[in-house]
Amino acid sequence: MGKRSLWGWGYEEQAVDPLGLAPLLADFGFRVGDDPIPVVAADTVALATARLAAPGLDGIAVTDDRMARLRHAHGRSFDDIVAGLRGDYRFAPDLVAFPEDEGQVLTLLQWCAGMGVACVPFGGGTSVVGGVQCREGDSFNGVLSLDTTRMNRVLEVDELSRAAHLQAGMLGPEVESALRPYGLTLRHYPQSFEFSSVGGWLATRAGGHFATGPTHIDDFVESLSIVTPTGVDTTRRLPASGAGPSPDRWYLGSEGTLGVITSAWLRLQQLPVHKAEASLTFASFEQALGALRALTQSGLQPSNCRVLDAGESRLAGDAQDGGAALLLGFESAQLPVEPDMEAALAVLRDHAPLSVSGPAYRERGRQARDASSGEWRRAFLSAPYLRDALVRLGLIAETFETAVTWDGLARLHAAVNAAVTATSEELGLHAVLLCRITHAYPDGLAPYFTVIAQGPGDVREDWAAVKQAVSAALISSGGTITHHHAVGRDHRGFYEEQRPDRFAAMFAAAKGSVDPAGVMNPGVLLR
Ligand SMILES: Cc1cc2nc3c(=O)[nH]c(=O)nc-3n(C[C@H](O)[C@H](O)[C@H](O)COP(=O)(O)OP(=O)(O)OC[C@H]3O[C@@H](n4cnc5c(N)ncnc54)[C@H](O)[C@@H]3O)c2cc1C
Repeated sequence: MGKRSLWGWGYEEQAVDPLGLAPLLADFGFRVGDDPIPVVAADTVALATARLAAPGLDGIAVTDDRMARLRHAHGRSFDDIVAGLRGDYRFAPDLVAFPEDEGQVLTLLQWCAGMGVACVPFGGGTSVVGGVQCREGDSFNGVLSLDTTRMNRVLEVDELSRAAHLQAGMLGPEVESALRPYGLTLRHYPQSFEFSSVGGWLATRAGGHFATGPTHIDDFVESLSIVTPTGVDTTRRLPASGAGPSPDRWYLGSEGTLGVITSAWLRLQQLPVHKAEASLTFASFEQALGALRALTQSGLQPSNCRVLDAGESRLAGDAQDGGAALLLGFESAQLPVEPDMEAALAVLRDHAPLSVSGPAYRERGRQARDASSGEWRRAFLSAPYLRDALVRLGLIAETFETAVTWDGLARLHAAVNAAVTATSEELGLHAVLLCRITHAYPDGLAPYFTVIAQGPGDVREDWAAVKQAVSAALISSGGTITHHHAVGRDHRGFYEEQRPDRFAAMFAAAKGSVDPAGVMNPGVLLR
């Protein structure tokens, strides 16, 4: 364990040296100066005086400590990171609370409701959509950030049904290390796995990195408990149920607007033993996508089947020849994966790959030989550190994602490209747009875009303009504003365009019934 960065991703000692990226960036046409932007030191940051004194609430830990307030001021979007780097903490909460059980959460929510204080649930704080930053604080008597990470225990493991009752404040590594002695895994690995929480995943309907099959946290939920300002709700623990609208589904994705999820029974899987990896290159992105569609519609369920466009492939070290790469993986706890891998390769070979590397097979504990998707996974997990370094070089570096049915893909991809090109011309940006497919379904796919850009203007303003343009392109071409990054405050306007009006009214009424004072994460999901 190291020291967590206040402004950037992860541990300070794992930070990437910005200047070391110069050759790679030159390859993409970016100019890099000799002086990375310095980080404003925490003790020199201007922080408004807290509007509230920490209340004495039955021994619950509540503080107005400066560092605690700074650490709960931002999520981890590009804008958050630049704000932190520059020392802009104008939306820091007045108070931070660290409840240890459901009873304490209820006391805090009722105190907030009675005092007119906005309450912002905070798990790992990795939101990329403004989910943990209360910008509406002026309309309240204060803002309290409710940190769930002291509720971080496994309450029960049911080995017979293969499920565990987990408290919401557990971070990804805590979950997996607690389950490993049972030979079990939640098998939910968002890229933010190391620093995000069970409650955050449930509240945002997070997506793990497996490309097909059960990968969204929704797929694993048997039941959950949520504390609202009016009381506690626990849904019935069931493997499946056809009894009316699902209460779990009402609370999943509620992003802290209805209450604080405190625990959940989640389905587990056996640790995988057999693994296989291969990577293929194709002459074009379109050709690789055709192969991907055939694969997802074949009935096979690879754990990995990501397609990287030419730029992504160059970054990852695959398909240096300007084509696209398809990374393929299978894993299983019990059955050998050779038959599935061979069947998948047979499907993909029909789409004329330029090259096939692998397959490499391994069993747990043994290293795969010659598996370039292993390289890709390392790059995947260290990418957030890379982004911090790009930010310190004064570049825009951010991602956005969506999902669309296969028939709408070409239109959506073209619309996003056009939006980035037009905005870049307007702002004088040199911009590179990269695309990879993170999740694939028989009826559609989830394109994930990265923008790296450089220009004469202010990076926060320029990114806001690009983001507005690409979000409008996603919605107008039939995509969703988010496949797994959530809505938060940043996507709310575009979310309003895609959800039905009557549903919005119904959701607002539901919120009114459990949060009559309107203190739960105001500004998120609802206006
Ligand atoms: C580098 C990076 C990579 C990422 N990769 C992925 C990815 O692969 N897949 C993915 O889905 N997302 C990804 N994200 C987004 C983010 O990690 C997810 O949204 C994650 O689920 C947030 O979890 P958290 O614990 O950090 O929640 P937070 O950021 O603390 O909160 C997120 C939202 O949920 C609410 N909330 C948090 N805990 C609770 C609770 N217990 N009860 C009620 N509401 C709560 C908050 O108020 C906020 O609105 C990534 C983010 C970054 C910065």
